[in-house]
Amino acid sequence: MSDQNSSRILDGVRIGAAIQAEVAADIQVLAARGIRPGLAVVLVGDNPASQVYVRNKVKTSAALGIASEQITPDPAIPTEGLLEIVHGLNAREDIDGILVQLPLPPQVDARRLLEAVAPQKDVDGFHPLNVGRLQIGAPALAPCTPAGVIEILRRSGIAMAGANAVVVGRSDIVGKPMAALLLRENATVTVCHSRTRNLGEVCRTADILVAAIGRPGMIRADMVRDGAVLIDVGMNRVTRPEQFAQFFAGDPKREAAFAKNGSVLMGDIDPHAFAKASYYTPVPGGVGPLTIAMLMANTVRAARLRRGLPVA
Ligand code: NDP
Repeated sequence: MSDQNSSRILDGVRIGAAIQAEVAADIQVLAARGIRPGLAVVLVGDNPASQVYVRNKVKTSAALGIASEQITPDPAIPTEGLLEIVHGLNAREDIDGILVQLPLPPQVDARRLLEAVAPQKDVDGFHPLNVGRLQIGAPALAPCTPAGVIEILRRSGIAMAGANAVVVGRSDIVGKPMAALLLRENATVTVCHSRTRNLGEVCRTADILVAAIGRPGMIRADMVRDGAVLIDVGMNRVTRPEQFAQFFAGDPKREAAFAKNGSVLMGDIDPHAFAKASYYTPVPGGVGPLTIAMLMANTVRAARLRRGLPVA
């Protein structure tokens, strides 16, 4: 990556670390009042990616001074058993945040479970009450990944008010809350999905383009306007040599990584498109680190809101 590029990179590692430092400072303020925020993470099954995510969440909590605990019930646990666990956590005074790691095994009714989490402890922001509050602009716990994107934009001085923002993806955990948050920032928001006609044409209207699709390099350079801000939420593992070559041929760092590991992590935006961007988030090191930072921020926010203390 040339120096010319690096000045346009939105560095999620740096921004995530800054947020974590602020959270740690706030935890000290709460500690002086005898409050220690508590986070419970429920992990069902042996999905390797989920195990890594949960380990990182628990580790980061500990580093910042959040009391965290991991609950790993039998992978065959039925919905009722999990509901009991969640009800127990809802009732506990020392727990401020409850996170049920997704995806859940097929025997579990995920919706029922997510709706059982007390809304004031719903640090993932997935409960319908928090989804609704986000829509009407009332104080809410917002989903961590899109909330992290807003922090990247805000802290990088990128104007959202009046900007044309295009969000590709309409999932409940990224695309839809992303659109709601950008709208709250007064952007003019368009949401695209798999049935959108002329996707490239719509994307080219974007001052801020957020890709949350789950398809490696789907947003190509010709779909991007010169000077656009590109936010890549996608996290895809590329293992096929011809696909790798399509995106990274001539990039010595990535070539070395691919030769060593047999795969690389990439986003939903073709790296060739970054040359047209005014700013962009790399993968890895862009949006990813913000998700965990915002989870920590949400846990402290939940601890404050539940006690009637002011929040930023
Ligand atoms: P989902 O699979 O739930 O949603 C994908 C969305 O992309 C859907 O709305 C789908 O449309 C749309 N889509 C699929 N194909 C196309 C297409 N050809 N053209 C236009 N739109 C399309 O994924 P998530 O929202 O959960 O995640 C998206 C990506 O973000 C993934 O790569 C995931 O790994 C990553 N992610 C990263 C996080 C981070 O911390 N950085 C956190 C969460 C997710 P439709 O609704 O019509 O099917």
